[in-house]
Amino acid sequence: MKGMQCPECCGIVEVRHVRLPNFACPHCGLTLCVPGGFLVRPGIVGAGVGLLVCYVFHLSWVALLLGPLVGYFILGSVLAVPLLAIAPPKLERNFRVSRTLDL
Ligand SMILES: [Zn+2]
Repeated sequence: MKGMQCPECCGIVEVRHVRLPNFACPHCGLTLCVPGGFLVRPGIVGAGVGLLVCYVFHLSWVALLLGPLVGYFILGSVLAVPLLAIAPPKLERNFRVSRTLDL
């Protein structure tokens, strides 16, 4: 199984090192992040499951609105963990945190 690779030092980053929204490379300490687009797919699956559960159990229209939202964030986060191992994303530098002022 192919692991994730640090774009700076090319060290292998395991799933247990990954934190959201950003984390430090275990080899060089560079602040890394998972691409935002990677997290959308499990979120959409989670929203679909949330909507399906609300529909199957004939919940009120409020639940039909909130179910997909809750599913997107909660189930999407849960589904993202195995997806990191099955289809590892290309890690990116987190410029918002790691940007430094060079004088
Ligand atoms: Zn690194």
